[in-house]
Amino acid sequence: MTQDLQDYSHKRFNILTGEWVLVSPHRAKRPWQGQEESIVNEQRPSHDAQCYLCAGNTRVNGETNPNYTDVFVFTNDFAALQKDSPSFTLEDGLFMAKSEQGICKVVCFSPDHSKSLAQMNVASIKNVIDVWKKEYLELGANDSINYVQIFENKGAVMGCSNPHPHGQIWSQSTLPNEVLKKDTQQRDYFTKTKRGLLEDYIKQELKAHKRIIFENDSFVVLVPFWAVWPFETMIVPKQKQASLKDISDKEELDFAEAISVTTKAYDNLFKCSFPYSSGIHQAPTNDADQSHWHWHMSFYPPLLRSATVKKFMVGYEMFGSPQRDITAETAAERLRQLV
Ligand SMILES: [Zn+2]
Repeated sequence: MTQDLQDYSHKRFNILTGEWVLVSPHRAKRPWQGQEESIVNEQRPSHDAQCYLCAGNTRVNGETNPNYTDVFVFTNDFAALQKDSPSFTLEDGLFMAKSEQGICKVVCFSPDHSKSLAQMNVASIKNVIDVWKKEYLELGANDSINYVQIFENKGAVMGCSNPHPHGQIWSQSTLPNEVLKKDTQQRDYFTKTKRGLLEDYIKQELKAHKRIIFENDSFVVLVPFWAVWPFETMIVPKQKQASLKDISDKEELDFAEAISVTTKAYDNLFKCSFPYSSGIHQAPTNDADQSHWHWHMSFYPPLLRSATVKKFMVGYEMFGSPQRDITAETAAERLRQLV
């Protein structure tokens, strides 16, 4: 690895999306006079009577949550996708549109309103993974569902309206843009080499050992070579697996540990409840051959240099391509020290 990557502006290639990111390590020292977010480190109660996700409370649509004790799933009361929307296609010259069916669910990670994944124990995180796997299989078995997106928005800065620990699952008939790119890149590599793209990438990363934050028997946590967000990370199974369908009980525990270690390191980085969007990209649930797929979980946190300074995706990033200042190697080094 050349030192030039730490000193001079350059582009890095994202093998999963086929896109480039601009890296400007020399800019990391510039002074900051822009917007600062306010820090909210308030201690929340374990149960909030005003929270529509807490056990026993009534949601806006009049339904009452059960007195759940571990993980609770329900169909989103304000779903972005409708299961029964009629099938239609619009092809009017250059105006093109298609109907899209889907089912959206909310997953409450814990009945405890005050907790986040970082504060939950590994066994409780494993319960969440059990539900993710069950929902992936059940939703995916539906004829009209060909892709299942599991994700979490954490923190007001990520647009999360409720601090109760929860994530979402949006499942739909077609592959969304980001998944389509990764599907194509992985398929092309697999067709050419008969090997998994991420399988080979992980081998190279483990050998280089510059961006690895943590590993256990089954998983690697790293800052990807092509990371866009300052402290972006990825949790990848060491063995190629197409989806959560293939994960064993022991691997679920190892995955839970990897999530626990990652979210704890994040909270320790700027001494705050670290905001992020996280999501799992895995094989579509259509009938196609999925042997090129290697599932993984990504964390995209917006914070840049402290709990109050976040990265903005504006200007060049809107009109050109994503850009970052601190290198993936520097970010990995800082996170590794907190594990
Ligand atoms: Zn709550």
